[in-house]
Amino acid sequence: MAKRIGLLGGTFDPVHIGHMRSVLEVVDVLALDELRLMPCAQPLHRDKPQVSARQRFEMVHLAVEGIPLLVADARELTRDQPSYTIDILELIRTELAEDDQLFLLLGWDAFCVLPSWYRWQELLHYCHILVLQRQDVDNKLPDALCSLLATQSVNDPSAMTGPNGSIAFVWQTQLAVSATQIRQLLARGKSVRFLVPDAVLAYINAHGLYCALH
Ligand code: ATP
Repeated sequence: MAKRIGLLGGTFDPVHIGHMRSVLEVVDVLALDELRLMPCAQPLHRDKPQVSARQRFEMVHLAVEGIPLLVADARELTRDQPSYTIDILELIRTELAEDDQLFLLLGWDAFCVLPSWYRWQELLHYCHILVLQRQDVDNKLPDALCSLLATQSVNDPSAMTGPNGSIAFVWQTQLAVSATQIRQLLARGKSVRFLVPDAVLAYINAHGLYCALH
C-alpha cells in the first residue's frame, strides 16, 4: 500500500503553535501516514537564524514528541551550506517506494515566489504541492504559476492521486503567530506561553534562548 508523506521545511526559529496547528490540519485533511517537519541548517533567502540548527531541531523534536504521525527530520542539520528544495526532494524520493505519495507543504507567500526557486519547474516530478491558504492573502500570482495551475491544480486536496504532479490548496485555521513575534517578545523579556508548545517554552528558558543578551 502506498504511503502518504508530508514535508514542511522552515527555519523554525522557534517552532510555534501556528506551525503545529497547521500540520495537524494537513495530516487530517490528507489522511497522511507521516508528516515531517524539517528545520533547515541555513535558510536560503533570509538572515542567519538566532539559534543553532541543532537547537532549532531539538525544539521541533520536543514539539512533536508524543504526537502521532508528526516527525522531526534531522537530515538538514549536518549541512554546512543551504540546500535547494529540489535536492532534498530528490534525496527523499530515493528512500521511498515508487508509488508512495510525497506532499510538499508551502505557505502562500512561498508559493507566490516559486518561480524564483532553483529548478522550480521540476519540483512536481518528485512531489505534489499543497499550498497552505490563509484568509488575509491577496498577492497576485505570476503568469508562470497561473499557467502551471491551469494544468496541474485539483480542487479537492484529498483527491491528489499518484506519487507526484498535482497542486492543491487547503484552507487553514488562522493563527496570527510568527517566530519573529516570538523572538521579539522574548528579547523584551515578555512571556510566550501558549504561543509555543510547553516543552519548547521550557527548552527556551533552560537554554536562555532569544533573550536580549543572547
Ligand atoms: P519568521 O517569523 O521567522 O519568518 P515563521 O513563523 O514564518 O518565521 P518559518 O519557520 O519561516 O516560520 O515557517 C515555516 C513554514 O510555516 C512556512 O511555510 C510558513 O508559511 C509556515 N507558517 C509560519 N507561521 C505560520 C502560522 N501562524 N500558521 C500556519 N503556518 C505558518
